[in-house]
Amino acid sequence: MAVCAVSPWGRCRRCHGRRSHRTTIGTRRDCPRCDGTGIRVRTGRRLLDHIRTEYRDGNQ
Ligand SMILES: [Zn+2]
Repeated sequence: MAVCAVSPWGRCRRCHGRRSHRTTIGTRRDCPRCDGTGIRVRTGRRLLDHIRTEYRDGNQ
């Protein structure tokens, strides 16, 4: 889909962008999948590695 290429950020499937979800005992918790941000990165690990490399280079 075109939208995947245009916006790398998508709503978290687990919490649907609500950032939290209900546990079985009825309390609210940060969504473990998106870490409470409500969004997930489609490009994923590649982007993370890229950022990490840049960060490292900048520090040294
Ligand atoms: Zn989530």
